[in-house]
Amino acid sequence: MRILPAPSGTGIVFRRTDLDGFEIEAVSRNVARVSYATSLMKKGVLISTTEHLLSAFIGCGIDNAIVELDNLELPILDGSAQPFVAMIQKAGVRKQRRVRTYLRMTRELELREGGKFIAVYPSETYSVAYTINFPHPLIGKETFEVELTNGSYVRKVAAARTFGSREDEQAMRNMGLIRGASRENCIVLTRDGVENGPLRFRDEFVRHKVLDLIGDLALLGRQIRGRIVADRAGHAMHTALVSRILRDPSLWEEVTAAEAENTPEMQPASHAAAGSLS
Ligand SMILES: [Zn+2]
Repeated sequence: MRILPAPSGTGIVFRRTDLDGFEIEAVSRNVARVSYATSLMKKGVLISTTEHLLSAFIGCGIDNAIVELDNLELPILDGSAQPFVAMIQKAGVRKQRRVRTYLRMTRELELREGGKFIAVYPSETYSVAYTINFPHPLIGKETFEVELTNGSYVRKVAAARTFGSREDEQAMRNMGLIRGASRENCIVLTRDGVENGPLRFRDEFVRHKVLDLIGDLALLGRQIRGRIVADRAGHAMHTALVSRILRDPSLWEEVTAAEAENTPEMQPASHAAAGSLS
């Protein structure tokens, strides 16, 4: 994978270097299947597991970048967004001339499915509150809330790793995912603990759900101004929220940076990133 800078207005675009540079924009209309991870598809070409990198882009304030891949699945690395954040920071971020536009929620939207819930409410900033209730002695009910200001993403969210059990791993392998999986790239749960501790945060599990949600909401194609509340949701509900928001323009308005409240990590101009992974 290699990240290249892109002109303002490009957005995030994946490019399959193994398929003559075929490009897939990281936007809601290209969402394909969602189960353990979020995949994009265009004209039969797939890009899988986009959420951790897209989450890092949001957390680092990146609006424009080309992501070259020679494979259908993004590198899992350590199962968090930390390595992506590190490579973005190392490569540097370029401030661009064009004024950033935000999607600012003006009305609420709530989705329910069985015991699962996800909603977005009007807010001048971008914040996420997530609750999980996972039947495991180490997890149980966890709630984590974060407002994406003052570098809080990098400090509190980026390093949270994905988690799963040995059974999940087999299921994912059967779907052709995590071909590179090992104890180095996710927290492996045992019956009453973790196989590869220690945890990076006591509540690392729910923080990773926040990371995933931010990555899936990046498919709005713009930075959002709203408060997200999620309870036991997953990729399918995250992406359903995105498409419902986009389908109903009466729920939001487009505002420029000058109109929206700025925060140190969401600066007025759009940004491009560059970096590479070997
Ligand atoms: Zn994840």
